[in-house]
Amino acid sequence: MSGPADPVCYCHCKDCKRWTGAAAPAFATFDPTVVRWHPSEPEPFVTTTGVQRWTCQTCGSAMAARFDYLPDQVYVPLGVIDQIERLAPTLHCHAESRLAWLDESCKLPEHSGSGRDALMRGQD
Ligand SMILES: [Zn+2]
Repeated sequence: MSGPADPVCYCHCKDCKRWTGAAAPAFATFDPTVVRWHPSEPEPFVTTTGVQRWTCQTCGSAMAARFDYLPDQVYVPLGVIDQIERLAPTLHCHAESRLAWLDESCKLPEHSGSGRDALMRGQD
């Protein structure tokens, strides 16, 4: 992408949760003319009429979505964008589907690192 993202939003709809595997997926919206596929645009898949979604052919990550009723927008999950730190969401879409426990998650105990970090160090 070479243009500005507008808007950057959470989408709480069921389709986006399933597609990304996230409880609260967030997306940056781009003009389709600034999105470039490397090495080439893969075939999209359609699970809902009027919605095209692209998934990485190598790792399976959700990569982009387009909606027929929003022809001037491409939605890209924030998790696959290198500049994610600069793309804070400013909007909640499908807010009626927001998980009730989501707002409480900021109050949870915090740990740094993960089991993956232990695996990378060769420990259990
Ligand atoms: Zn959605």
